[in-house]
Amino acid sequence: MMARRPLVIASGNAGKLAEFDQMLGPLNFEVRPQSDFGVETPPETGLTFVENALIKARAAAEAAGGPALGDDSGLVVEALDGRPGIYSSRFAGENASDDDNIDKLLDELRDLPEERRGAYFFCCLVLLQHAEDPAPLIATGRWHGRILEARRGTGGFGYDPVFHDRRMGATAAELPAGEKNRVSHRGRALDQLIRLIDER
Ligand code: IMP
Repeated sequence: MMARRPLVIASGNAGKLAEFDQMLGPLNFEVRPQSDFGVETPPETGLTFVENALIKARAAAEAAGGPALGDDSGLVVEALDGRPGIYSSRFAGENASDDDNIDKLLDELRDLPEERRGAYFFCCLVLLQHAEDPAPLIATGRWHGRILEARRGTGGFGYDPVFHDRRMGATAAELPAGEKNRVSHRGRALDQLIRLIDER
């Protein structure tokens, strides 16, 4: 059997790490969280998902001395002109919990009719071979849905309980992990990244 390829994931988010492990493990990658190398998430000073994914990947590649995958993702809500966007994890404040963020979102969308509750998750992945890699691989994915008026389901993380995919007939928190990974922004970005890796 081929040796598993080590890959540091530039994230401290347990929900995301579990998803990457599920998706990349079968492709012979040995997924390692950045905490194994003592990396803390650097300040996300970019104004776009791609800038922040690159900042995270570079910090992890530097500390781990090898390839690193940076991920930046969030929820883009049409009625809120794209908010919370890159601020999704800190929507309700610097140390906000997932529940705090959902409460704020439901509050801001209160009384909006269904047709105005459109939103999408966005994910940008950046793969650096090393900290000075001048040609990172960059992949993106989107997942369209609607924000419900109340939570449904207990799986996943973040805004999953209020994000409803009409085609799947379920919220992200009601989907089994494998199903979510197949249709999600992160799953789609990862498919694209894997194609880029294969083409290289
Ligand atoms: P990041 O760790 O800075 O990329 O922040 C991502 C934030 O976006 C998370 O903390 C969640 O609030 C939200 N988010 C990203 N992906 C998902 C998902 O798959 N489900 C639910 N929320 C997500």
